[in-house]
Amino acid sequence: MKPSWKHFYPQIKTAVLNLDSLDSLLQQTVEKVIALYQAECLLWSGLEFGIADTLRVFTTPQTANRYAASLGFAYPPPPLPPTGDLNSSTIQQFRPRSLPPWLLDQQNSPQLLQLETGDLIIPITNRGSFFEPDSAGFAIANSLQFILQVVRSETNSEVTADLSLDPPVLGMTSLSTLPVPKIQGWTVAEIESLEIISSHLGLAYSALYWRQRLEQSRQQSALVGRISRLLNSTLNPDEIVSRIVAELGTGLYCDRSILVDLRHDPANILAVWDNPDYELTAFEQRQIRQSYWQNAIEMFMQGGASYLHMSLNEAKADPLQVWLQDMGVQSILVVPLFIQEEFFGGVALLSYGHDRSYLIDELQTVRQVADQAAIALTNAQHYQRLWRKQEALRIQNNSLQMAILRDELTQLMNRRSLERELEQLSMGAIWTIHPSFCIIVCDIDYFKHVNDAHGHLAGDEVLQEIAKRLQGQLRRGTPAYRYGGEEFVIILTDTPLHQAIEVAERLRWAVRSTPFVTKAGNLEITASFGVAQQNLTCDHSAWDVLQRSDKALYEAKRNGRDQVYALEASIQG
Ligand code: GH3
Ligand code: MG
Ligand code: MG
Repeated sequence: MKPSWKHFYPQIKTAVLNLDSLDSLLQQTVEKVIALYQAECLLWSGLEFGIADTLRVFTTPQTANRYAASLGFAYPPPPLPPTGDLNSSTIQQFRPRSLPPWLLDQQNSPQLLQLETGDLIIPITNRGSFFEPDSAGFAIANSLQFILQVVRSETNSEVTADLSLDPPVLGMTSLSTLPVPKIQGWTVAEIESLEIISSHLGLAYSALYWRQRLEQSRQQSALVGRISRLLNSTLNPDEIVSRIVAELGTGLYCDRSILVDLRHDPANILAVWDNPDYELTAFEQRQIRQSYWQNAIEMFMQGGASYLHMSLNEAKADPLQVWLQDMGVQSILVVPLFIQEEFFGGVALLSYGHDRSYLIDELQTVRQVADQAAIALTNAQHYQRLWRKQEALRIQNNSLQMAILRDELTQLMNRRSLERELEQLSMGAIWTIHPSFCIIVCDIDYFKHVNDAHGHLAGDEVLQEIAKRLQGQLRRGTPAYRYGGEEFVIILTDTPLHQAIEVAERLRWAVRSTPFVTKAGNLEITASFGVAQQNLTCDHSAWDVLQRSDKALYEAKRNGRDQVYALEASIQG
């Protein structure tokens, strides 16, 4: 059969119509050239960005083996199959370690030529149709897209195609100002055919590429829409963060995605999604050292960058490289998250298997989702506040709930309901997105003495009266809890420490200013107060804050009682 481009054309058409993968189009081209010309064939791809990273050679393992010495393939060609038949083995991708000198010449001025080894070099340029900014760089119009390298073992030395006398119809030679070459062992018709194949390949590749890009961008806008609907359907912060990482992870095909609160050291990981197709060891860590992210944080806070993309082994002195290395991550994309204009953290997409780059559209998708997430988290934050207030009212109006959650003697909320509240405050995402809260602990001074001197009944009366006075000083929706025998707890949400101290002072005065009227007579009662504020740097849950308030109370007692003592979170916690 006389080789001709006509044999190739239907195949290309089918590939484009069926929306085959780009790689399979390239593989098919190599297969076809080998079959048609009984030649060895190497198809160089990924040249358009001018970076060695994207460079791949499609060829048979046999040919790869033959060129391995000169090209130093990074993916070593597999051992040869038993038969030496050129057509029998499938086409694979190889990554050359070093570039042949002629390739650099081709990048500068693409030209059809024959190497001294007899290899025919046919450049395929994008002719301006394959042009778009990419996260990996800029493809330049009219730049080299592919190179078809063909060589025949038995050259028909009698044939010489003098292209200066007989220029091919669709020749790439027109792109170059170099003298038109003579080609040994090939006829003009064959070269013409090869050039038509090359040119079809370039067009088919562009068509496929753009169709795939269209499909991707359609999928991505669907993703943004889906996330927006999801986020509108829930106000639970934990659900919000876990849905965001899951949708982004699946939508952008990464191996793992995480959402991290980067405001404090250690940084808190709020949600993790793992690609089920990729067997990653479970990510147990819930905290990571903030210092790894220091450069990224500064970059985002200064507003200088809308994303950060980094690969392992990139010659960049960034502490994040250490983290990537520790985690075995090949590449990472971080998009910052701002909640109410304040830097909060980021969404990070991790790739373990290979160095993943992202297209502009994909970056935009992640950014849009991050913005949506910020709004959803802000809403959730507002909702939590409202919920807490309503919950307090609900309990007040529900006698059954009251019985379970209230203390019988004082009618305050009991220890069980305090535990519920502390648990709620310590829940994953809420723990970090909620504005700082304070806890006040109150303990009656020398209460044993009241019991001893006036009897338990008088003691009970004092407890009932103090409960009334404490609750009377607090807003509706801010309950006081009876924590222990004569100890009380108040949680002040959205309150800075200095305000909490003021509240505690008010409470102290409410106790000491008027004597307690009991059946045993009027009693002068005082109480001591410990105050502490939630600190994400050293607290891991609301229980830690309560513990610090307890320590503060101990200090108030030690300093002579009837006073308020506030304990700032210290380095040692
Ligand atoms: P301090 O100033 O150090 O707090 O001295 P204190 O005497 O108050 O010491 P402490 O807090 O250890 O005393 C707690 C006392 O509270 C012991 C217990 O008899 C009394 N108590 C606990 N629950 C009740 C209760 O329900 N009714 C009465 N009447 N007394 C209670
Ligand atoms: Mg006590
Ligand atoms: Mg006491």
